[in-house]
Amino acid sequence: MNFFEQNKEIPNQSLGVINGHSLFMKREDLLHPNVSGNKFRKLKYIFEEIISHKVPVVATFGGAFSNHLSATAAVGKELGLKTIGFVRGEEWQNKIDSSSTLSYCHSQKMKLVCISRQAYKKKESSLDVIKILKQFPKFRLIPEGGSEILGVKGCSEILTIKDLKFDVICSSVGSGGTIAGLIKSSSKNQKVLGFNALKNPSINGVISTYTHKKNWEINSNFIFGGFAKTSPILIKFINSFYQKYQIPLDPIYTGKMLFAIFELIKNNQWRWGKKILAIHTGGLQGVTGINQKLKKKKLQTLLYLEDLL
Ligand SMILES: *Cc1c(COP(=O)(O)O)cnc(C)c1O
Repeated sequence: MNFFEQNKEIPNQSLGVINGHSLFMKREDLLHPNVSGNKFRKLKYIFEEIISHKVPVVATFGGAFSNHLSATAAVGKELGLKTIGFVRGEEWQNKIDSSSTLSYCHSQKMKLVCISRQAYKKKESSLDVIKILKQFPKFRLIPEGGSEILGVKGCSEILTIKDLKFDVICSSVGSGGTIAGLIKSSSKNQKVLGFNALKNPSINGVISTYTHKKNWEINSNFIFGGFAKTSPILIKFINSFYQKYQIPLDPIYTGKMLFAIFELIKNNQWRWGKKILAIHTGGLQGVTGINQKLKKKKLQTLLYLEDLL
């Protein structure tokens, strides 16, 4: 399992003092070039189990720009396992090349099976999925987003003893596994603040299935219209953030969270403590796809992409 032993200590980069609040960012985006941030954390123990049980095939689910799909494809290739990605939307089957994420997955030898949204909703109980999986006597399914107990366990390694000095830990929230891990390893004097990246009214219930601790809260006021939706104000914020700090943010998760933190502090609405650690959960692989969409609509794109390539 050498792959996950590249696990190195990640710097907390200072973003300075804003309105009396000292803000730091944990650069989990720097964990690995192809398996960034929380997806690396989540997959660590899942793949450790897969290897120890000698399972040769790994199947999972994701959208056409999913960070999780791309991370699973990269890890599977590295560890010599067959990977299958069930992609949301059958229309993608004929245009794999038009999604940078799907073409990357393809380059990592992931078998891509694009299924209807209806089938996708049913996940492993859909006939399209069953038909493929029954060809393999032994496989491991990873849930969408990698949120399961082993994924949460990996995410509980994001915080270290040195992070106990912070009053507040902030993270973006999708399926809830990452914040559950952060809550588990936080101290009860710390507040863990999650910023929802999508409309997901049941998220508090999901998080509560992983932890009984109560030192957390979800803010759903900075969703920007829905999952993967952006706005010119958000893009402008991310671009000026990059110019100021040389830290690229993805517009789906970390960008929205940082926008929220700055907005709340500037408007004197921040009431959770003055030493703040925001987690950069990664996700930069998705930016190429976002920029393509923005370009089509003749909107401003994310600047930093040229430097990243
Ligand atoms: C998947 C993802 C998240 C959301 O994590 P969950 O554990 O699903 O809540 C946040 N940020 C990035 C960059 C991601 O790829």
